[in-house]
This record gives sequence, C-alpha cells and structure tokens, in this order.
Amino acid sequence: GGPVIIVGAGHGGYQVAASLRQAGFSERICLINDEAHLPYQRPPLSKGYIKGAAGPESLMFRPEKFYQDQKIELIAGRAVSIDRAGHKVLLASGETLPYGHLVLATGARNRLLDLPNANLPDVKYLRILDDSEALRSIIPSKTRVVVIGAGFIGLEFAATARIKGLEVDVLELAPRVMARAVTAEVSEYFQERHREAGIRIHLGVQATSIEAEGGKVTGVSLSDGRHLPADLVVVGVGVLPNIELAAEAGLPVAAGIIVDEYLSTTDPNISAIGDCALFASPRFGSSLRLESVQNATDHARCLAARLTGDKKPYDSHPWFWSDQGDDKLQIAGLTTGYDRVVLRGDPARKAFSAFCYHGDRLLGIESINRAGDHMFGRRLQAMDRSITPEQAADEGFDLKSALA
Ligand code: FAD
Repeated sequence: GGPVIIVGAGHGGYQVAASLRQAGFSERICLINDEAHLPYQRPPLSKGYIKGAAGPESLMFRPEKFYQDQKIELIAGRAVSIDRAGHKVLLASGETLPYGHLVLATGARNRLLDLPNANLPDVKYLRILDDSEALRSIIPSKTRVVVIGAGFIGLEFAATARIKGLEVDVLELAPRVMARAVTAEVSEYFQERHREAGIRIHLGVQATSIEAEGGKVTGVSLSDGRHLPADLVVVGVGVLPNIELAAEAGLPVAAGIIVDEYLSTTDPNISAIGDCALFASPRFGSSLRLESVQNATDHARCLAARLTGDKKPYDSHPWFWSDQGDDKLQIAGLTTGYDRVVLRGDPARKAFSAFCYHGDRLLGIESINRAGDHMFGRRLQAMDRSITPEQAADEGFDLKSALA
C-alpha cells in the first residue's frame, strides 16, 4: 500500500498513472514531471509537428482537467535522489515525497556529439517538445541542414526538412541507413526513396568537425575529407538511458535499469519501465531494452496491473512504426537474429513486407505501406502462430487463413 510516486511523465509514466486509476487504485499518485508541459506524445516531434502549425496542446495525452478529475498529482520538478530505507524521493526543490511504490520512468536522453562547436545554437537535437518547437521556428530561416545519424529520428527529420524546402545531407557511419534496426532490403528501399526526394545520403562517413563563423554554423567536415556547407546541424546519434537516479540509490544497472520479468528492481518497492528499463524477457530468452511507445505503454499497463493485484510477467509482443516522407514503416516482432528474409509485395510498387525468419521460425515482419501485413503479423504473434517462408512469399496465399 501507500502512494505511488512516478519519476518521469513521458509515455510510460503517464500510462502507469492512468492505468492505476482505471484499475481502481485509490491511494495517492504523483507524477514527477521535469518538462514544462502536460504529458505529451513524442513521435510527432520528428514528423508532423515540425511540418504543421498545430500548437503543443495537439500533442497532449489529456487536458489538465483529466489529472484533476483522476487525482493524479502532476508535480513540476526533478527527482534527485532516492532514500530507499526511508521510502522517500527527494526533489531538486528540496521537497521529499514518501512512497509505497516508486516507479522509475525516466526514459532516455540524447547522446551528445563530442565535436568542436557541437554546442552552438544551430546544432540541434530531437527528444523533447522544446527541441521540436525550436527546430520548427528556425527552419524557415535556414537553407541547408546536415543531419548526423541515419536512424529513425534522423531520417524522419530529414524527410520533414526536405518537405519544408531545405537542402538536406545525411551522414551515417554504417554502410546502410537504420542498420541496427531493419533488414538490408528495407534500408535500401528508404535510401532510394530519400534520394528520390532530393536528400543526399552519405554512408560510411563520420562528421569530424563542425565549422562556424561568429557563432554561426557554416558547415560540417567529413572523415573522407569532404566538406558540406550547412547553416543547421541536426544530430540523431542515439540515446543514453537515464539510469543515474537508480545507480546512485544502489540499484543494479547495466545498459539500463535492471528489472526482472515483472519489471521490478532488486528492491521490491521500486520498478522501472520504458526506455530506461533493461528487462528480463522469458519470451526472448534475454534482457532487452527497447525504445518504443508500445514498450513504454505496455510496461506501464503490466506494472499498474501488478500494483493492483494482478501480477503477471511482462510478455507483450513488440511493435513499432516510423513515418518518413510518404512512406510508413511498421515493424511487428523483433527483427534481429534472422538468417532468412523473404519479401511479400514489391518494393518497386512502394508496398512490401520483409518477413524475417530464423530457420523456419518467424521473428518479425517489417512492412512498408502494407498496414494489412503489419496487423496480420501482430495478430499471428498474439496467437503464437507462424506461416512458412514459402507462404509469406506467395501473394496468392491468403494470410487470413493462418488466423482462422
Ligand atoms: P520518455 O517518454 O522519454 O519520458 C521520460 C520522462 O522522464 C521525460 O520527460 C524526462 O524528462 C523525465 N525525467 C527523466 N529523469 C527525470 C527525473 N530525475 N525527474 C523527473 N523527470 C525525469 N517510438 C515509436 O514507437 N514510434 C515512433 O514513431 C517514435 N518516434 C519518436 C520520435 C522522437 C523524436 C523521439 C524522441 C522518440 C520517438 N519514439 C518513437 C520513441 C518513444 O517516444 C519512446 O520510446 C517513449 O517516449 C519512451 O517512453 P518513456 O516513458 O520510457 O520515456
């Protein structure tokens, strides 16, 4: 019993609070929020939000009244330490909050570029609403952007910037875009589509320095000796999970805050969820740390269920999406560790899915503009079923028959 204190009011933190109330939890709930906004959705920050003119309220999960009605206390501030023996969290303001259960939903922060001039105002990152607002307001005064990193966020932003009329160069150290996350087939498709849109993608290169004059960015030098002019640099080189609060409290951390299959730390009164959590996954036979809305919200629901008496191991199936220009990528399952990829549909017709297999086991499906395949994949996984690679490749094979 006792209050539930949630550190971090992002996707995970918000959802724990909402799900606790939905499940009838009646004690105090505090959501500690270090951003100056009501809890909001992050995905549009690199997509529609920069393109459009909608205000911040368009991103909010719920209006302020929801938190009042639900008696979810939004507390502006930062948690700075945990007193585990005393069951209290200390905020930067000096205030302490007693907890019955403490939820760490601290998310992740951008990995910063360690280059000269990387802290100039024209070098931007994308994680929080303020980042997206800042980019949206300066883009009209810019002409050439160099995007460092061809991961999801870098490419989403690159596509958006191109639509907004900027010259766009993208730098990527790996030999293909989104290399850690998607199959070569999907990388190649997106490389081609971005190039068609007029984006220059430079693979196998690194930024070695950012040039500036009088505090204004003038360009980026590359590891192959080239120099690209630019008046804006946007960096998307990955994130670091926010594990320090847990580590300083003596909780085990590695590439995330270590939690078991119930999302509990070694301290039964403290759990961790979302981007910051390295969780034991019986289904995948390993520890995972995922960065997705699905992961954060399903973690939150699982934890809220445990805290209201319905204890089950976390066992949701991962899924993900990324919108880049006119293309929608959707991923069902975890497409890593495959040894065989079969395509359904046709990249030339801008609609196909890559079915990823290890042996005969279907690990996941990457779909481009094939929402039906994606939903099929999620339903198939939920039923713990599979189809053979031959069936996947055969457009004459009726997917629905596999769900019957
Ligand atoms: P977050 O949402 O990051 O929330 C953590 C919060 O905790 C933050 O507000 C942080 O400031 C706060 N915090 C940290 N430490 C403290 C502290 N000590 N005290 C108080 N507060 C603290 N996922 C998808 O599935 N699809 C997408 O298309 C997609 N697009 C994305 C686009 C962008 C630009 C970004 C940045 C992310 C995107 N993601 C996407 C990933 C997704 O948004 C994250 O996986 C998700 O937000 C994780 O939720 P979380 O609650 O774990 O962390």
